[in-house]
Amino acid sequence: MRLILLGPPGAGKGTQADVLCQRYKMAHISTGDLLRQVIKDKIPVGQKAKSFMDRGELVPDEIVAAIIEEKLKDKDTSASFILDGYPRTRRQAEILDKTLRQLEIVLDLVLYFETAENTILKRLTGRRVCRKCGFNYHLVNIPPKKENICDRCGGELFQRDDDRQETIKKRIEVYNQQTKELIDYYDKEKLLKKVSGDLDVEPLFKELEKIFRSAGLT
Ligand code: AMP
Repeated sequence: MRLILLGPPGAGKGTQADVLCQRYKMAHISTGDLLRQVIKDKIPVGQKAKSFMDRGELVPDEIVAAIIEEKLKDKDTSASFILDGYPRTRRQAEILDKTLRQLEIVLDLVLYFETAENTILKRLTGRRVCRKCGFNYHLVNIPPKKENICDRCGGELFQRDDDRQETIKKRIEVYNQQTKELIDYYDKEKLLKKVSGDLDVEPLFKELEKIFRSAGLT
């Protein structure tokens, strides 16, 4: 399957992508994760990206588009993938369309996680991430077995700088101004399926499986 997950920050895209990738052996392409890795690896473009991310703004289209193009050129990845957090602007969507055409890759679905603002706020303020493997937890909804320790790899959990109250507000504003219009963009392409991002992990996963079955994808 080749999927795009669309929705505001805190909609549960990353969590569902993790579960789906495990279930269906797909590549999880998260621009946020890839950018955080570039920063961690001290690659020069990372410094530029970090300044935007810390403010809750979008990293310039050229930087993220180049990262995605490199990923999609890898045949193992392009066979079956989830794009999580990309595209986030109309320009990124247009660049992606062009890249997909050139590489002869056909998208199956765009899953839109419609999510209430109070769900977003609760999810983001409670989110904790493993420093080592990047797995996402939530203090209330998906707590680790041992406080501050990753169940999977024993790594230390931390709060992302951009998950703080002030930055969260900005990220929601940026989503409403720049990303929300992609719902219409993909609806016109007849690729969009809407699900409720307010659901917990398991029921939402079941909804997604239903959609895949009725689309003849599984
Ligand atoms: P995420 O992990 O998806 O919440 O992304 C964290 C931050 O990375 C965002 O707030 C942006 O600053 C940056 N980012 C991630 N994906 C993109 C994208 N497609 N375009 C521009 N910036 C992005």
